[in-house]
Amino acid sequence: MDKNWFPLQGVPANGKTFVLEDPAAWATPLQEFGVACRVLEPIRAEIFVLAQEQGVLFRGSISGKVALPCDRCANDSEVTIRHRFDSFEPYPADSPAPAGKDSARQKPGRTGRDDADESRMEDILAGDSDEAVIRQAAHGRGIEINPGALAWEEFSLALPVKPLCREACRGLCPVCGVNRNAESCSCAREEGDPRLAALQGLLVKK
Ligand SMILES: [Zn+2]
Ligand SMILES: [Zn+2]
Repeated sequence: MDKNWFPLQGVPANGKTFVLEDPAAWATPLQEFGVACRVLEPIRAEIFVLAQEQGVLFRGSISGKVALPCDRCANDSEVTIRHRFDSFEPYPADSPAPAGKDSARQKPGRTGRDDADESRMEDILAGDSDEAVIRQAAHGRGIEINPGALAWEEFSLALPVKPLCREACRGLCPVCGVNRNAESCSCAREEGDPRLAALQGLLVKK
């Protein structure tokens, strides 16, 4: 999805709305997300794009429903997403003049160091462009925008850091591992959280 660059020239003066609702387009970043995130209701992002004097305004909303593993018991935690956002992206600075490469070619004696600097710069730019929302297009073709990358970023922000299957989830027993929402175990009455006990030990030593 983050390869979807659009020329800003294609956005009319009164703005344009981009809609991202293709499940296939969301599937790839969800897989790369590294968390078991299952789509229960289709994810839909709508982003209004408006070019302004200093940069581009993105005004959008994301909706959908996903299942994430509960932070305490790993069962499904259903998360309804109703997320709104405003993002302003300033225009990128002009890219360095392509004349640089020509002059390097004309002075072969110095190309060693110049090439090294150049490739490092290109690596950084390549890394940035994966997540960037706005960029200077190659060969002076103006500004390009990537609404999909912004939608993905905002979607990630909309997810809870510690999803819970329910507020009162009792989690797994730290000793035997049973799901304490469903059953009790003989070690269930041990006092205190072992992680807290370890912390108390640290405090005593000090
Ligand atoms: Zn739970
Ligand atoms: Zn137990």
